[in-house]
Amino acid sequence: MKREELIAPERYNVVSEMEKYAKETGRKALLWLNEQGDQKEVTYEELMKNANKIGNAFLEQGLKQGDKVLVMIPRLIEAYQVYIAALKVGLVVIPSSEMLRTKDLQYRISHGEVSGVISYFPYTDQFHGVNEFDDLITFSVGGAKEKWRDLDSLMDDHSEELSLADTSREDMAFLSYTSGTTGNPKGVVHTHGWGYAHLKTAADKWLAIQDGDTVWATAGPGWQKWIWSPFLSVLGTGAQGLIYQGKFDPKKYLSLMDEHEVNVLCCTPTEYRLMAKVDNLSEYKLEGLHSAVSAGEPLNREVIDTFQKHYDVTVRDGYGQTENTLLVGIMKDMEVRPGSMGRPTPGNQVEIIDEMGTPVEAGEVGDIAVHLDTPALFKEYYKDPERTKMSRRGNYYVTGDQAKKDEEGYFWFEGRSDDIIISSGYTIGPFEVEDALVKHEAVQECAVVASPDEVRGNVVKAYIVLQKGFEGNDELVSDLQNHVKELTAPYKYPRKVEFIQELPKTTSGKIRRVELRQKENVMK
Ligand code: ATP
Ligand code: MG
Repeated sequence: MKREELIAPERYNVVSEMEKYAKETGRKALLWLNEQGDQKEVTYEELMKNANKIGNAFLEQGLKQGDKVLVMIPRLIEAYQVYIAALKVGLVVIPSSEMLRTKDLQYRISHGEVSGVISYFPYTDQFHGVNEFDDLITFSVGGAKEKWRDLDSLMDDHSEELSLADTSREDMAFLSYTSGTTGNPKGVVHTHGWGYAHLKTAADKWLAIQDGDTVWATAGPGWQKWIWSPFLSVLGTGAQGLIYQGKFDPKKYLSLMDEHEVNVLCCTPTEYRLMAKVDNLSEYKLEGLHSAVSAGEPLNREVIDTFQKHYDVTVRDGYGQTENTLLVGIMKDMEVRPGSMGRPTPGNQVEIIDEMGTPVEAGEVGDIAVHLDTPALFKEYYKDPERTKMSRRGNYYVTGDQAKKDEEGYFWFEGRSDDIIISSGYTIGPFEVEDALVKHEAVQECAVVASPDEVRGNVVKAYIVLQKGFEGNDELVSDLQNHVKELTAPYKYPRKVEFIQELPKTTSGKIRRVELRQKENVMK
């Protein structure tokens, strides 16, 4: 695919992709389930009609094209309807996870100059402490009180006809805040044209969605990953999306896949990892599954092997950021090299560069960078020209992650630039050590960081959460160290090991190595 094929028509609205399917009577759009066993289904036609009613309600209540709205709705069909409605009338959506608290909301509402809020009723109280609250146009779903407009009943008063706002491909569609793994979240500006580029990049060859497929992408609304997969890729290809509003449980996930004959699965590495550790995997068949992908953090080889062995499916890795779309990935039908996250996605110019901004040779570690001329890249950090500038080097946007490329152009992830460990002059990516550690039967999860050391500068330290039934003692420590020495270059083994109950994580579940590193520095 050429770069040109990722560029949307000049006048473009990302909802136009979904409207095509709403014209087909009976095409299934979403199947929602919860822990209690309740179910609800909608077709594309119903979904669009509901979205149209909501869009009309937004306009009538005073929101207008270009305004920004913050949406905080969990895994419900209503989340899809509200996003479609907002985009269709030309509003900019700020995705927000239900895990955000008043302080996080305050930051987004002030920084994003928000005009309206659409929240799920049980979460509305979180907004009451926000300074601008009285000036916001607020809607709530699933009940309403006080100044919150009841969106469910407002829908009944509005027409199911609504035309698409005349938006340009350059108009902002989403203002997405990053996960905050390394610091304060950054406001990332994405246009309708970015939505188009994303669909072309990720839906077809990576998720490999075929007509008639049921797709389960487990990300929750509020994260960019939800926009990527459950929202844009599912609805933009006319597939049926499965929504499960329940807490993560590896066995439950596996049985849902059997029950609903899931064809395409998109999960986080943590979810895969915990599924792969289930003891009775052969009880699940996953017969419909023809495509399984992972993104967000590095994918362990162990997972790939286990899924291959039990279900004859290759879990394929993909790398991207809130700032862009899928940049590197193992596309369907591409040869897998376990441990590698794949090759640059078609049409996107992704390189590994040095400090001077020059692409490096195969085998050399450098910064993963994206040519600024890439349609799948964000426009800028909102109201933060300084940060936008700092993220650029020559003609490239620098991702903040490091990798090396092999002769065939496969990328091998080293780590976030800040997470890389330099010990006795060796550069060690934490992932390789973690990957070896999780292969050990005693290890449930782990994170590897630099720990300051007078002689070596730093040494490798592993924080480990043990599987049930194992005890963290000296014998296990040396057993784990030997295990790593056998699987990787021996100098990478963790000289220090600490057992902990839980790893520090972001609300989206990413390991915050920065916190562990700080702990090491304080301890010195
Ligand atoms: P912040 O920028 O606020 O610190 P964040 O970078 O975690 O948070 P996201 O945009 O959600 O926010 O995550 C993108 C990052 O996740 C990438 O820069 C990379 O470090 C990591 N990542 C994503 N996919 C992969 C993958 N397949 N393999 C390894 N790392 C990945
Ligand atoms: Mg980031």
